[in-house]
Amino acid sequence: MNEASSPAGAGPYRPSVRDPKLLPILEKIEAGKRLTFDEGMVLYHTPDYNTLMWLANRVRERKHGDKTYFVHSLRLEFTNICYVGCTFCAFAAKKGEARAWDYSVEEVVAKVREKWEPGLTELHMSSGHHPNRPWSYYPEMVRALNENFPGIQVKAFTAAEIEHLSKISKKPTLEVLRELKEAGLVALPGGGAEIFAERVRRQIAKNKVKAEKWLQIHREAHSLGLRTNATMLYGHIETLEERLEHMDRLRRLQDETGGFYSFIPLAFQPDANALAFNLGKTEFTTGLDDLRNLAVARLYLDNFDHIKGYWVMISSDLVQVALDWGVSDIDGTIIEEHIAHAAGATSPLGLSRQKMVQLIQAAGRVPVERDALYNELRIYDNLPKAEGPRPKAISAS
Ligand code: SF4
Repeated sequence: MNEASSPAGAGPYRPSVRDPKLLPILEKIEAGKRLTFDEGMVLYHTPDYNTLMWLANRVRERKHGDKTYFVHSLRLEFTNICYVGCTFCAFAAKKGEARAWDYSVEEVVAKVREKWEPGLTELHMSSGHHPNRPWSYYPEMVRALNENFPGIQVKAFTAAEIEHLSKISKKPTLEVLRELKEAGLVALPGGGAEIFAERVRRQIAKNKVKAEKWLQIHREAHSLGLRTNATMLYGHIETLEERLEHMDRLRRLQDETGGFYSFIPLAFQPDANALAFNLGKTEFTTGLDDLRNLAVARLYLDNFDHIKGYWVMISSDLVQVALDWGVSDIDGTIIEEHIAHAAGATSPLGLSRQKMVQLIQAAGRVPVERDALYNELRIYDNLPKAEGPRPKAISAS
């Protein structure tokens, strides 16, 4: 036993810390203090998984208790035609290819109508950078969706897409955002961030929005009152330092604006893309890497409300475990996803609302259905839990 552990009944539970480098970090977390970059790297390297999990869960429960959020959402990709050529992408197609699609505004409305389910709140759209669609198509689409589906929240266009719209409209990105907001856009997804490090970006997304511009577009969105999310694509050629630098830049922007809802690590999917082929990579990220990454994010991004476990990429089974590793949001029902599945994701195309609730309850947490703006719509706290109450071995002091 060491100074971080205590016998039963002698005060709040603390884990038996095996890695002495974690002791000062534990003290800082307990005191609610911010971790330094070097401390973040200690978290990435520690062999003491037990304490890492305990720490991440400590912060997660301090922020949200047992509440675990999800949204009843529909995913719609209005085109897969894209000229950008990110090497990790298996989704994009060239114009004229048999597998290419490109919906008109009327077709987008028809697709949503076809997939519509009662209680659907969020429509999440991100798509390819279409070379020919005029700027007018985009606000028109947002407007048509709001008119046809009153109450739906359109969360759409990554910062990379916003930059593309700025180029085709010849308007500054701030003006693009303003006009989309006027048309009814309520929030931005977090895609396009990939990894901010220039070394990596040159190899995986060299024609895509630059890191600084990605951050600038989110800064502008926040200045207009549009809240956003932030992602990080990991598990390919990036180093652990580059992962943490990525988070560090997000933490600094969040300090400045407070406009991010959640951080979403996206695990690289190894099928049908040039990057995987060139690397000879056929394996998915390991569960331990996924969990460690989520825990580091929870501890380092102290100013983010939520760390999201994206079940599409790490599986719904691992997401249940991740609820003990800092995750407080598991995204949504999604209904139909194509981007990660094109690259080999083996998860279902969507999950029912009942399945989301069961997943969370079986992990001993309380499901909270939210909308795209993180308003709580329903707390599922009056139903019997699938596997009985969760033992409270880790109690808050
Ligand atoms: S990730 Fe997005 S921008 Fe890059 S090639 Fe694929 S669809 Fe295009």
